[in-house]
Amino acid sequence: MFDWRALQKHKIISICYFSAIAIAFVLSLSHNNNVEASTDAKDYLSPLIDIAEPVPSSLTTDFETQEAPDNIKAMFELMDNMINYQSARKEITIQRGDTLISSLTRLGIAKDEANQIYHSVKSDFSPSSLKAGQKIELFVSVDTQKNNQIIGVNLLTIKLDASRRVRVVRRDGEFETFTEEDELIEVDNAISGTFNGAVSVSMRNAGVSQAAVVGFTNLFNDPINFSRDIHKGDKFTIVYKSLVNKNHELVKTGKIIYAELKLRNQTISLYRFEDGKSGAEYYQPNGQALKRALDRKPLAFKAARISSPFGRRLHPILKKHIIHWGVDYAAPKGTQIYAGGDGVVQVAKYNGGYGNYIKIRHNAEYSTAYGHMSGFAKGIRAGVRVTQGQLIGYVGSTGRSTGPHLHYEVIQNGKRVNPLTIKASAGENLSGAALARFKQNVASIDKQYADVITKQPAKTKLARK
Ligand SMILES: [Zn+2]
Repeated sequence: MFDWRALQKHKIISICYFSAIAIAFVLSLSHNNNVEASTDAKDYLSPLIDIAEPVPSSLTTDFETQEAPDNIKAMFELMDNMINYQSARKEITIQRGDTLISSLTRLGIAKDEANQIYHSVKSDFSPSSLKAGQKIELFVSVDTQKNNQIIGVNLLTIKLDASRRVRVVRRDGEFETFTEEDELIEVDNAISGTFNGAVSVSMRNAGVSQAAVVGFTNLFNDPINFSRDIHKGDKFTIVYKSLVNKNHELVKTGKIIYAELKLRNQTISLYRFEDGKSGAEYYQPNGQALKRALDRKPLAFKAARISSPFGRRLHPILKKHIIHWGVDYAAPKGTQIYAGGDGVVQVAKYNGGYGNYIKIRHNAEYSTAYGHMSGFAKGIRAGVRVTQGQLIGYVGSTGRSTGPHLHYEVIQNGKRVNPLTIKASAGENLSGAALARFKQNVASIDKQYADVITKQPAKTKLARK
């Protein structure tokens, strides 16, 4: 890293000035050759701020390898010019419609130089990806005798994100571009706090990152309604990973390991667990997923696999690409189908391609639909109230279907959505070997973060809508 600000430019310029006079004097005594002195002051300026090459010695070397200037007066003129040059920090904020070149020339940088910078920077960064509001930091040489007119750019920095930046530096009169990347450190954040007003404000004040606040509230949605169920004095705990740079500035919020809500009459703890199949899920200490408004797989046969996912697919009978508006679960004929959530049966009848079809309205936002059933459960008809997990019918292959399966749809605000990804849908509980591994995981998290985790009784009762 360059520490440009630490440089005492005046001092260095003075040192150069006097050592150059001394060298010129010595050379003038020993040589008498006729050689032009460089009049391009920029070539002398750039090493002035280049820490990698200590200035006085490199300048001395330059002069020793050059032939002595015949005209000592020209030499002094050049030095006089140099002493008027100072390094200055500038900042450009990219405006809408700006290009890199237009923003540089607006600052007062010569078109030629702006072009050189543009061509150099392209090796590491696409100048067209600059966005309005983005900032570019520059260290330039200015002429103090000419109203601080910019003589040239010495260093230009474009910040890519909290840990990466592109640098363009002048070296030997040419621009060189490179990308700097901070080494990131993974840190644990274990934070407890009390809700006192708005949920996100309370958590942010306790030091939880914005992304972690969003992740935390999503984990408890929707059995917990954060605007209705949280009261002043309720408590939260969150353990999550994050990546910070060496100045301990947050670069990225990582995964949430543990989330706890301590409400007036219940405590809910959720532990992260990766079972290798469906990525990470969160479970209560007993391996149960949070009970949610809607079930993802409302079937008695929990091993049922998805035979056709939600979305675009080649229809097996119609032989053309159409959007599949539900999830198909392959299951033996006669498998019990449950109500995906509490609600009222709106439709229970034969319905064209759907075959035997049931639609349940859960609330103002959500309905679910079930197709291809072999038959309805006793008492299920339009107008009947059902509860989540109640038997409503049996898997079949009625309507447009190639084999026994449940076609399951979730309708949100009148639009069919993916039953697996909506926040209201619940994951499955853990069992068997996965449950055993999960419990080991819980024990190690409990141990590691013992000072923030609330050990709670085995039984937890969750709020239901
Ligand atoms: Zn289907």
